[in-house]
Order: sequence, then structure tokens, then C-alpha cells
Amino acid sequence: MKLNVVEILKNLPKTNCKECGEPTCMAFAARLAKKDIELKACPPLFTSEYAAQREALENLLMGAVA
Ligand code: SF4
Repeated sequence: MKLNVVEILKNLPKTNCKECGEPTCMAFAARLAKKDIELKACPPLFTSEYAAQREALENLLMGAVA
């Protein structure tokens, strides 16, 4: 299954904070869809504030592997 960039973006913080090294969350989503970057590169996702989004993304990524 191919990863959908829009589905990924929906669950990202969308703050464009650049902590992942990408200019925007959209750019991060595009790289994540290509498995070109790991989820852990986005530190805000690993705060309690975004726990639900992180879980949704982990499920999305796992689904893509299976
Ligand atoms: S670290 Fe996360 S929230 Fe910040 S720009 Fe990257 S993907 Fe977006």
C-alpha cells in the first residue's frame, strides 16, 4: 500500500516548526510517504499533546509495511 501524503499531513502538528529539518510539515509528509525520513525526526509528535496523532501515524506506517 502506498502512503498517502494528505493522510500523513492530517496527523502532523502542522506548525511548520522546522525541527525535523524540513521547511514545512508538508515536506516532511512527502518524505515520510517515501520512507525517506523517520517519524521520530518530528520531536513535537513525541510530546503528550500529539500522542493521538503519533499513534495514528504509527498505524498508518505499519499498515504500509504489511
Ligand atoms: S518537526 Fe514536525 S511539526 Fe515541525 S515542521 Fe517537522 S513535521 Fe512539522
